[in-house]
Parts: sequence; C-alpha cells; structure tokens
Amino acid sequence: MAYDSNNIFAKILRDEIPAIKVYEDKETLAFMDVMPQAPGHTLVIPKSAAENLFDLKMTVGAAVLATTQKVADAVRTAMQADGIMLNQFNGPAAGQTVFHFHVHIVPRFDTVPLRKHQGKMERTEVLEGHATKIRAALKS
Ligand code: AMP
Repeated sequence: MAYDSNNIFAKILRDEIPAIKVYEDKETLAFMDVMPQAPGHTLVIPKSAAENLFDLKMTVGAAVLATTQKVADAVRTAMQADGIMLNQFNGPAAGQTVFHFHVHIVPRFDTVPLRKHQGKMERTEVLEGHATKIRAALKS
C-alpha cells in the first residue's frame, strides 16, 4: 500500500486537525492518544512520511526511538506509572488503524487494568491535564 498523505496523523503534522502535543523536534512529534488505553497514553510519530516499520528510514527510526525514550521517561514520572508498555502495529491484521508509523507509549499500573485498543474517546480536559504533567516532567 502506498503512503496516504490524507491519514489523520499527516493531517496533525500539517496542523489541519488539532492534537494535544507534548514534545516535538526536527524529526518527531509526540501527542496524547485520544482513546487512551491508560491515563497518559502518548503517541510518537516521525514527521516524515512512513506507513509502517518496513518503509521507515533507519535514521528516522533512531530519532523516533530517542524521542520515545525521552517521552516515555516523562510519562513514567508524570503519571507515576509502575511500568511502561510500548506498542507498535504494522498492517490491519496486526491492529494498525492509522497508516503513518507510530509508537504507543502506554503507562501501566499494578492495580489498573489495560483498556481496549481504540476503546473510548477521553475528554479533552482530562487529556490536557495529563499533557500538562508530561510537559512539566520533560522540562525537569
Ligand atoms: P493504531 O491502531 O496502532 O494505528 O493506533 C492509532 C491510534 O491513534 C489509536 O490508539 C487511536 O486512539 C489514536 N488516534 C486516532 N485518531 C487520533 C487523533 N486525532 N489524535 C490522537 N490520537 C488518535
């Protein structure tokens, strides 16, 4: 499948639709997942076009991993998570629904069960609250 530049994350990158952003640099962007599997669920994407792992340039992959480590550390601190789970899906059969490469950063808590992938939309004010904490942890 060729990269579709009208996918929702490409639109976020062009500022055509809003996103609750927590971090960005030249090559990557991190923002809150609107249907979080746990409080603080964050996505990291490359700014350049790549549908999945198989067409991701490895120099870009390195930048995505660096941002993932930085943001995951901030999510862990901000949300006081007991652990951090990373998910990355390639192809519909694997659960991919947005066809722009992304890494899910999902905080895990000993006593909080994981919510369903693509479950329920979270309220914007709740996502903003989590983003504020994550941005603060990134600065500290
Ligand atoms: P995947 O199923 O791995 O392709 O993940 C796509 C993720 O993007 C899901 O967890 C969705 O909840 C999330 N998502 C979809 N649309 C948006 C959006 N506009 N802003 C933030 N997250 C989104």
